[in-house]
Amino acid sequence: MILTPHLLVGAAIGSKIKNYWAIFIIALISHFVLDAIPHWEYVIKIVGVSGNEFLAITVEALLDILVGVSVISLLLKHSRLAKPALIGAFFAILPDGFIFVHALAQVFFNWNLTFLDPLINFHHQIHFSDGIDFLFWRIIAETAVAAAAILVLWQTRRIIKKQK
Ligand SMILES: [Zn+2]
Repeated sequence: MILTPHLLVGAAIGSKIKNYWAIFIIALISHFVLDAIPHWEYVIKIVGVSGNEFLAITVEALLDILVGVSVISLLLKHSRLAKPALIGAFFAILPDGFIFVHALAQVFFNWNLTFLDPLINFHHQIHFSDGIDFLFWRIIAETAVAAAAILVLWQTRRIIKKQK
């Protein structure tokens, strides 16, 4: 999945769970669960791309993160849940962060960070539904995930407001 739905789901997890270890574990698992759902992705390939292609992907990813973090901040601003939500969001995109670091080392330094290989392979295998070729449904799935997470955050915000 692109990063925004991952971030939103991570934030929803962070806003609902009180223990940071539990947030860490559940947010990480959420990443792989979401990647198993058929979804749309702007990064088709990150291994073996040119430096310029890699920079383009980096810019897209940063914009993607900016959108996700802005929505979370907007929904939870001035709330004590903003911190756990952002921490949940961070862990929810961490697996893609490792892929980024892996590719960065390869593209620019020709280093092969082999200790990351098991994680990269696992992450790759999770995308087993990539053969299904309905772009429309892929985008719908992704939007539905983001909308559900926004709904949870929205509802959490209303509960906090009432408590004030
Ligand atoms: Zn991923």
